[in-house]
Amino acid sequence: MSLSGSPKPEVHSTRETLLPYGRQTIEDDDLEAVVAVLRSAWLTTGPKVPEFEQAFAEFTGTAHAVAVCNGTAALHCAMAALGVGPGDEVIVPAITFVATANAAVYCGATPVFADVEADTLLIDPADVERKITPRTRAIAAVDYAGQPCDWDALGAIAAKQRLPLIDDACHALGGSWRDRPVGSLADLNTFSLHPVKPITTGEGGVITTNDDALAHKMRVFRGHGITSDFRQREKAGGWAYEMAELGFNYRLSDLQCALGLTQLRKLPQWIARRQEIAAQYDRAFADASFLTPLRVRAEASHGYHLYSVQLAPELDRAAVFRALRAENIGVNVHYMPVYLHPFYQEKFGHRAGLCPVAEAAYARLLTLPVFPTMTDQDVADVVHALERVTCR
Ligand SMILES: *Cc1c(COP(=O)(O)O)cnc(C)c1O
Repeated sequence: MSLSGSPKPEVHSTRETLLPYGRQTIEDDDLEAVVAVLRSAWLTTGPKVPEFEQAFAEFTGTAHAVAVCNGTAALHCAMAALGVGPGDEVIVPAITFVATANAAVYCGATPVFADVEADTLLIDPADVERKITPRTRAIAAVDYAGQPCDWDALGAIAAKQRLPLIDDACHALGGSWRDRPVGSLADLNTFSLHPVKPITTGEGGVITTNDDALAHKMRVFRGHGITSDFRQREKAGGWAYEMAELGFNYRLSDLQCALGLTQLRKLPQWIARRQEIAAQYDRAFADASFLTPLRVRAEASHGYHLYSVQLAPELDRAAVFRALRAENIGVNVHYMPVYLHPFYQEKFGHRAGLCPVAEAAYARLLTLPVFPTMTDQDVADVVHALERVTCR
C-alpha cells in the first residue's frame, strides 16, 4: 500500500518467461538419428559425413559440400584454400559477426572493412570497389540477417578485378537470389550449424563450391593436412599416410552429420515459418513511427535468421533494449562494426569514422525474436511490448 492509501498499480511484463531471439528446433526424428549413430560402429568420419555433404550439396545446387566443425572453421578453410596469406587483404563488411574478419587474420592477412548500405545493412558494392588495392586477395560478403547480397553487382566487380568471392552465408541457408539458392552464389560459400542458425548440429559448419580443386584442398585442410583418410588407407591395404601441408582438426562427427541430415529435410518448412513471422512483423510495423524494418530486395528470398529493425533516431536504443528485456522480450543487437572491437582498434589502428553508414546504423539497430516454433501470439507479444515501451 502506498502512503496515500491507494493500491500501487501492479506492473506486469508482457510475458511471464523470456522469449529468446532465436532457438533451435529438435524433434523426435532428430533424436532417433543421433541415437542410431551412437549405437553404430562409427561416431566420427563414418558414412554419415559424406551422406550429409551429398545432401547439403544437392540442397544448395553445388558440386561439393565440405563439412567442418563450425562456421568459423568454414571461413578459415575457404580463405586458406584461396591461398590468402601474409601481406594479403580480404574485403569484409563492417557489420558482421567477428569471425568473418578473424578468418582473414588467422591466415596472416588484413581484413579491409567495406561500408554497408543504409537500408539493407548488406555490403555496399560501391565501397567494395573503392577498397580494392593491388593487395586484395578475396572479397567476403555476408548475407546479413538471411537476405542475400546484391550478387549481380558483386559478381561483376569480382569478374572485372579477377578476384574470388566468398559468401559468408551463415545466416542465409534456405534463401535465394534470383531463384539461385544461397550456397551457389559465390566461389566459396560458408555456413554455420550453431543452434541459433537455420539448422543445427550443435556446433558445425559447411563450405560449398563448384570448384573440384578448392574442395579437395579444404578436405585436406580440415584433416591435419593429411592427404588420405583411414577408410581410403584401409581400401588400399596400407598404413602409410602423408601430411603434405599444415592443416587443422576441423572435422564434423557422424553424430553431428546424422543430426544435420534430419534437420536439412525440415529446413524448407522452417524457412516458410520464418517468412510468415517476418510478414506478420512487416504488417504490424507498416505505419509505425518508432521503427523501420530493413529493406528487402525483390530479387531476394530472405531466410530471416534475424529480423532486424532500425529504431527511430529520437529513441534511446539502450533504454528501449532494457525496457524490452524487462518485458521478457529477448531482443539483441547484430552487430557492432567489427573494427570497433578492441582487438581491431589495437592491432590495425582502426578508429570510429571508418565506415560511417555502418556506425550510424549500429546506433539504432535492434534484432527482434524469430525462430520456427514461435507462435502468432509470441509475435503479437513482441509488437505489443514494442508499442508499450516506445510510447512511454
Ligand atoms: C555464426 C556466424 C559465424 C560463425 O559461425 P560459428 O559456427 O559460430 O563458428 C560466422 N559468420 C557469421 C555471419 C555468423 O553469423
